[in-house]
Order: sequence, then structure tokens, then C-alpha cells
Amino acid sequence: MRSLVFHSRDNVSLVEKPRPESADGEALVRVEVSAICGSELEASPGSNPGHESAGIVEQIPEGTSFNVGDRVGVSAVTGCGVCPECLRGVQLFCERTPRIHTEMHADYVTVPVSALRAMPDGTPASHAVLISGDTLGVPVRAQNRLPTKHHDRVLIIGLGPVGLGHTLVRSHSGAEVFAIEPSRARRELALALGATQVFDLGEQIDFKANLVIECTGIPACIKQALACCESGGTVLQSGECETHIEVSPSEDFIRREITYTGGWYYADEDFPEMVRLYKAGLPVDTMLTDELPASEVAEAYRRFVSKESGKVVIRWS
Ligand SMILES: [Zn+2]
Ligand SMILES: [Zn+2]
Repeated sequence: MRSLVFHSRDNVSLVEKPRPESADGEALVRVEVSAICGSELEASPGSNPGHESAGIVEQIPEGTSFNVGDRVGVSAVTGCGVCPECLRGVQLFCERTPRIHTEMHADYVTVPVSALRAMPDGTPASHAVLISGDTLGVPVRAQNRLPTKHHDRVLIIGLGPVGLGHTLVRSHSGAEVFAIEPSRARRELALALGATQVFDLGEQIDFKANLVIECTGIPACIKQALACCESGGTVLQSGECETHIEVSPSEDFIRREITYTGGWYYADEDFPEMVRLYKAGLPVDTMLTDELPASEVAEAYRRFVSKESGKVVIRWS
């Protein structure tokens, strides 16, 4: 089968590999589409960092709710399934350490059955990959945890795919969404997804938001997120940041009562709401701007890295 190899953010290629064999408790999925996530750009050379895919079940153990031939989405994170956190639907906190599944930019992938996501009848593969992965999962879990009301002001800093997903989900919930992003194409896409107003870097923001969602992980942007949050409001850290930053506990948290929290993926318990929103007409496909055949993976990555795109999908079959 074909499988992607990541060399650097603007250099990927395909290699031929043997098809993976499913172990006990695993399913074999023939990948129809995979999607590129911003976090992949930090992958290690030689890896296949794909972790968003949808396809057709080819092999499945006895006694599951899935059948050979079903179209499924694939979740990137599974837990042990038996610890208290997994049993309450939050495999992200699995006490035996959640497993993260990659290798999904390929013709076939094997994953535990608990990674499979059943799709509503007739869902195209290019929607299934958006519904079952980071694209809808991250913003829907954030909304389940930190709901916003009609007319609440939400400020989103950074409009990569995750920032665009937050824009879509919050706009749909009736919040007024504002966003800051240097790419003009992505600002325009945010407006198409329902944002009220978008700003270029350095433009004056003369209001404060009830909820600020920081999607860049850049220290200066995290400081801006705290500065743009109203007293009593919340800052959600959605962009990864492994460096240490300075904050003032007295000024930011004690005097202004700001809540600072984070989130990285979705939990099993969030999936029914993700499907409900899709069935209710959430236009998740508006985020899909580019779909290329697997033979053009290098071009798919190039378009993603250019920041002119929303969600970029690779078609395998
Ligand atoms: Zn991701
Ligand atoms: Zn567990």
C-alpha cells in the first residue's frame, strides 16, 4: 500500500509498505480520505503523522456494532476502555495513558475498534473525516465545556483549521465571533463560516470578549488573549505551546477573575453532539477548501503550509 512519509513541513512523499495486519480487538480500515492537521507540521522526519481519516471497514472482530463495508470516521485517541475515566466517556484522561493513533495518510490503517465512529447514513467520506476528527471534535468539546450564549462575544486568535472550527461552531451557537489572523484567505473563510468581524495582525481591538480562544500557541498571542478577555471571562488555550510564559497571577487572575484553561482533542462523550450538529445542518464542509488525490500529497501539503487553505483533504480511494 501507499503511505506518506514526512520529511519537513514542505517536503513529504509516498512509500510502498506492506498492508498493516489487525491485532486482537482492532479493525482494518481502507482509507478513503485523510485530512491534514496543523500539528503535523511539527512531526518527526520519517513519520506518517496523519491522524484524521475516514474509510470503509475491511476487517472487524466478532461482536461489535460495526460490519464489513460500513463507512466510518476514525478517532485519533483511544483509552483502555475499562478505567473510571474511560467508562465515563473521557478516554482523553485514561488512567493507563491514552493512545494516539497516526499512520492515517495511507491506503489502509489498523486501529482499536473503540476508535471507529459510526456515521449517519449517506455521509460522504470527505464529511466523515471532518466530523470524526479534530475539525469538529476540538470546537465541540470546547463548547460542551465552556458554552457561550446568544450574543456573547468570542474572540479567536489564529485561524488555522482549529480556529476556523471554533469560528463555525461558536457562530452557529449564536455568539458574535471576532477573529485575528494574518492570512487574508483565512479571514475571508472565517466570514463565510459566520464570523462577525475579522482583524489583521496589529489592528486595534477596542472591545473585550467573554471568551477568548487562543489557537496559535505564540507567547505574545497568549498575552494578547489575556488582555482582550473581559474581567470574569475565560481564556481557552487551544494552540500548543511548550515554552514557559510569564503571567501576573495578581493582575490577570486575582483582580480580574479570569479563568484560563485548555483543551486538545475530543472525548468519546462529545461525539453524539458532533453528529447532532452535523445532522442539524452545521455546514462543516464549508471548511474543506482543497481535496487532492494521494498521488499529489506534496501539493496537498504545500497548499496547507501556504495558509491560503482551510481544511485540506487527501483522497486515497
Ligand atoms: Zn490534530
Ligand atoms: Zn482508560
